[in-house]
Amino acid sequence: MHTYPDIKLLIGGEWRDAVSGKTIAVSDPATDEIIGAIAHAEKEDLDLALAAAERGFKVWRDTSPFERSKIMRRAADILRERKDKIAYIMTREQGKPLAQSATEIMGAADTIDWFAEEARRTYGQVIPARATGVSQLAIKLPVGPVAAFTPWNFPINQIVRKLSAALATGCSIIVKAPEETPASPAELIRAFVDAGVPAGVVGLVYGVPSEISEYLIPHPVIRKISFTGSTPVGKHLAALAGRHMKRATMELGGHAPVMIFDDADIDKAIEVTSLAKFRNAGQVCVAPTRFLVQDGVADRFLEGFVEATKAIKVGNGLEDGVVMGPLANERRIPALEGLINDAVSHGGELKTGGRRIGNKGNFFEPTVLANVPTSAKIMNDEPFGPVAIINRFSSFDDAITEANRLPFGLASYAFTGSVKTAHALGQQVEAGMLTINHNGLALPEVPFGGIKDSGYGTEGGSEAVQAYLETKFVSQMS
Ligand code: NAD
Repeated sequence: MHTYPDIKLLIGGEWRDAVSGKTIAVSDPATDEIIGAIAHAEKEDLDLALAAAERGFKVWRDTSPFERSKIMRRAADILRERKDKIAYIMTREQGKPLAQSATEIMGAADTIDWFAEEARRTYGQVIPARATGVSQLAIKLPVGPVAAFTPWNFPINQIVRKLSAALATGCSIIVKAPEETPASPAELIRAFVDAGVPAGVVGLVYGVPSEISEYLIPHPVIRKISFTGSTPVGKHLAALAGRHMKRATMELGGHAPVMIFDDADIDKAIEVTSLAKFRNAGQVCVAPTRFLVQDGVADRFLEGFVEATKAIKVGNGLEDGVVMGPLANERRIPALEGLINDAVSHGGELKTGGRRIGNKGNFFEPTVLANVPTSAKIMNDEPFGPVAIINRFSSFDDAITEANRLPFGLASYAFTGSVKTAHALGQQVEAGMLTINHNGLALPEVPFGGIKDSGYGTEGGSEAVQAYLETKFVSQMS
């Protein structure tokens, strides 16, 4: 029998209460029950965490990449061993079905392994010199202590990309984890502590997000920021980072277009996109959102997608057979109701769903809207919930114009049987990621990030490691 733990801060290798003794309550989104408490960090705690991160950085940058890699891979194995216990914790605090929690944990272990290998490949360059006896080296060094801010939708995976890239390159890191879903991140970090990461290399804090970011980002100890969350908050934090000349990676909101062409395999498109849409109750930055279906297959796709949506079993993620849990935050219920009502008042058709389920827990019906005009709010604002919008298009150019209409540019999806169309999409869709005829996003070894208002930098693939490294040029005469 698993239980939900109370959560402490990790500062200088010790799990400790906040100096003030203050705590924040944690609730279960499926039952509204208070299930635990987290230590609430304030300025004094942050000062201790910063001092520890500064000390930790000196130790970790001088630890060989070979040794760092070994410790990281041990942490990945510990995470795998503890999968069932951590999955229970994640489902209690976040709501997603147990199987999705377990997949997130196993995916995180893979991510750690991949970055552990990259740790050993942070190559520099030897540049041919103009004079004999001169060596010209471009060497790669860790940027320094990192501050990472992560949201509640993937409590572990939003952290693990930042944590693994930082540790692989020799940086220390302070993680401000989500207050709504605090315990599974603590378990991720406990795996690193138990694997032997030295004191101060990883810190973990919770509190008032704006107070923590306003204090950490300008602080001279912090050299790099990484944030995942909404575009407005991202712009605010990126501006703060810019004012203090700090490197930043921003993984922000999206509003992914899904273009389905007449020549696509429609059954496959329905299967792949309905799974992707309602995974994690649609609270996914890369979730398919604006479905654009070509005239010839539009009726068939809509009918099949609505059928697949109606078949989704919603319930407590701890129960067998549940495919969609509650929303993680109660505040998303009025937000979704507002967007759906606005869409209908603009002439959109509600095909299924659209309402809260019951009055206990944050359950919401899987929802499909059709033929929604671009003047409706939901065609412009990220719904971040279980709502699909299915509209039509006639020509390739219409699809591209609509796909690129918004300031967002994170994920995009397409289904087509034509190599020519697929190639043209690759050139013309304004998005950081495009997946065609399947869902191939978010593996550790491939780029993961957005363009335009969806942010900058990538959190996957070899470029993700570069974001935590500085280049130093050394010219040496013998
Ligand atoms: P929100 O904008 O209040 O918060 C989003 C995240 O940013 C939360 O984790 C929050 O703790 C953090 N945050 C907010 N203000 C901050 C600050 N000043 N400094 C540091 N961190 C701060 O929104 P919300 O109601 O929690 O979530 C809804 C919206 O957030 C969605 O519409 C979506 O756009 C966005 N979101 C995106 C992702 C993602 O994966 N990109 C994840 C979660 C939320």
